[in-house]
Amino acid sequence: MYTKEGIPFYDHTLAAVEYAAKKRMLVGIATNGDDLTRDKTRALRKSGLLSMTLSLHTETKKGLDHLIKGGRMAAEEGIIPTIQVVATSQTADSLPGIAAYTVENGILISATVVQEKGVNFSAVPTGESLVPSLEQLTTAYRGLRGLKKFGLVRNNRNFLSRSDEYFPNRWKCDPEKDHFIHIGAGGTIDVCQEVRTNLTFDDISGLKDPEWRKQKEALVEECNCLYQCYFEASNPDIKGDLTTIGVALLIRNGGAGLVRKWGQFAADRVKRLEPDIDWTLSLN
Ligand code: SF4
Repeated sequence: MYTKEGIPFYDHTLAAVEYAAKKRMLVGIATNGDDLTRDKTRALRKSGLLSMTLSLHTETKKGLDHLIKGGRMAAEEGIIPTIQVVATSQTADSLPGIAAYTVENGILISATVVQEKGVNFSAVPTGESLVPSLEQLTTAYRGLRGLKKFGLVRNNRNFLSRSDEYFPNRWKCDPEKDHFIHIGAGGTIDVCQEVRTNLTFDDISGLKDPEWRKQKEALVEECNCLYQCYFEASNPDIKGDLTTIGVALLIRNGGAGLVRKWGQFAADRVKRLEPDIDWTLSLN
């Protein structure tokens, strides 16, 4: 795979990671895991990669095992791996089983709800909504809250416990705050990856610039969502994330094997504590 400039995608990623790490940024990448080898993973670690998000696109056992293999390799090289699942009405019931299997392999899990805005990372709404029912979400997030206590879930507790307040995807970011901004292709400063402006840093004097404030307010006015990363940036929970930070540090410092054992212990405990949740891995 090549970038549009003809550079092998992996070489481009490696150079970008190295550049950002040298600028003292915390660098993570998202991947489908297709092109990962042991040597490439090790080189990414050496170039300064901190974390790797593996997105589950095909909800099959084969698809999940492919990501588990990549996640385990990343962890063994000291990169913090997370498997990211997007819950829909068709897949939300499988989430507890996927989560347990993931943490038993020493990999963190993160889950979010399908968004239906129809651009970028959202599904284009066609016909019936794919958003899971409130009951499906409540059960899945209850399971994840159990695993979160052991530090094995990337979502923060606010997201896992307050999502039902905004069902279905009716949260709105605060237009007066800049908990996050998105820098788009061409250097545009966007409210988020779904809601873009035509402004670049050359057009404004900074985030207090009236033009930025005006555009942001107008764009958010008509908007709502429940994007996990934006919600969590606006509703942080440092205390609740301490255990997750501990698990991440352990992986970072060569403790992938210990985290795997910890994940198996945690999954076993949570399954016992929440026996009415279906924890079976029901993927074909
Ligand atoms: S509410 Fe905010 S974060 Fe959500 S889609 Fe709209 S602009 Fe983006």
